[in-house]
Amino acid sequence: MRYLSTRDGRADPATHTFEDVLLAGLAEDGGLYVPQGLAALDGAGLRALAGLSYAELAARVMALFTGEAFDIAELRRLSETAYGNFRHAAVAPLVQLDDRLWLLELFHGPTLAFKDLALQLVGLMFDAVLARQGEHVTIVGATSGDTGSAALAACRDKAALDIFMLYPEGRISEVQRRQMTTVDAANAYALAIDGTFDDCQDIVKALFADRRLRRELKLSAVNSINFARVAAQIVYYLAAGLALGAPARPVSFSVPTGNFGNVYAGHLARALGLPIERLVLGTNTNDILARYLETGAMTIAPVVPSLSPSMDIQVASNFERLLFELKDRNGGAVAAALQAFRQTGALPADEQSWRRARGMFAGHRVDDRMTLDTMADTYRRSGVFIDPHTAVAVAAARIEMAGDSGATPMVAFATAHPAKFPDAVERATGIRPALPPALALLIDKRERITLLPNDVGAVARFVRAHARRTQPNLGAA
Ligand SMILES: *Cc1c(COP(=O)(O)O)cnc(C)c1O
Repeated sequence: MRYLSTRDGRADPATHTFEDVLLAGLAEDGGLYVPQGLAALDGAGLRALAGLSYAELAARVMALFTGEAFDIAELRRLSETAYGNFRHAAVAPLVQLDDRLWLLELFHGPTLAFKDLALQLVGLMFDAVLARQGEHVTIVGATSGDTGSAALAACRDKAALDIFMLYPEGRISEVQRRQMTTVDAANAYALAIDGTFDDCQDIVKALFADRRLRRELKLSAVNSINFARVAAQIVYYLAAGLALGAPARPVSFSVPTGNFGNVYAGHLARALGLPIERLVLGTNTNDILARYLETGAMTIAPVVPSLSPSMDIQVASNFERLLFELKDRNGGAVAAALQAFRQTGALPADEQSWRRARGMFAGHRVDDRMTLDTMADTYRRSGVFIDPHTAVAVAAARIEMAGDSGATPMVAFATAHPAKFPDAVERATGIRPALPPALALLIDKRERITLLPNDVGAVARFVRAHARRTQPNLGAA
């Protein structure tokens, strides 16, 4: 398997290995990596995947994407380590809400949100490839809350990585802060910055722009545009679909969407042969994607804070991967469309692309009122607490199901544990959800807080002083 950049417009585009894609994240031309070709599994191929453990399924699915970078035995070992950390033996269990609607619980990982499912495995893959190459990288990133803790949890104690996560001091929730500051690992640092999230992002950008520092510390990122993360997210679509009767019976999914990474993985699961009838994306009031599907116009609007903060996004970076397909894999056309988008705030109209996109996805916008109503209604009807992100998926699923009389099972993704958003759950249901034991423990753990001024120089000095840099064959067995 080789990969292309979505912005490579040459007649004979360059191809890249999985190792390159994993380590680089972003292509050099600013594009995102996508598989050059995907061979679909037939019915027998899908049936052979039914009934496997989650870790085994993950190893087999990743093997379709990793080319020569990993053999199946190594993938199995990494996958068993990654998913052995989860608090539920099924890793991603299905819970039935009513005769047609199911929840897929993606919050049983170390930080109680779905990003653990990909990051736990990808962190290990990163470390394995670096160890093999005798390399060491320094990961820096900025977080407004959730991704930071998932990245720290994924990179902690890895020999070939150090990780520094910047967060805005006093501007994230206590649970979010404790999830980062109680990580007790010699290579993982949560840095409280005396500033806003935007300040943190500006500092990270400035660190990457400093060529000397970048080379000296081999700066890297683990953001959601890394294709390895997308690939790891395909696994739970297959797990849920097979459990509900695929390939004999089709299945639909409803996905609470921000950066378009999760729902794009569903699109790839369908390309691999999983019979997906409807792929529904739910957005909060930051509804650029739902508006695009409805009207064909993709126009940027200011970000409005909502009850589902991990979806408060206007520019969904992973949409570029779909755009590449909609434009018949013409990298030049993608680069031109995105440049116009950056300059004017609107994607140039393209009726044919829009019609295709509408055939692939349904989109529904769910505002805060409907989010709270759905949380209350789900608790009343089924006795199940759901967090606001999950509520967007459940509401979008119900809207979609109201429009058809079929019987295809609909799986809504539960992307965060309700106890991560206790205020919203209490507002909707009158009850404060209990912390699961893993989170309750956080209250007693010692916090390690490093407070730094809102200053690039100060952060650069701290990172330089604490990063371990390359050591020959570090971590190689
Ligand atoms: C990141 C996140 C989302 C959005 O997922 P995308 O892949 O960015 O579309 C939804 N819910 C939660 C809880 C998240 O952390």
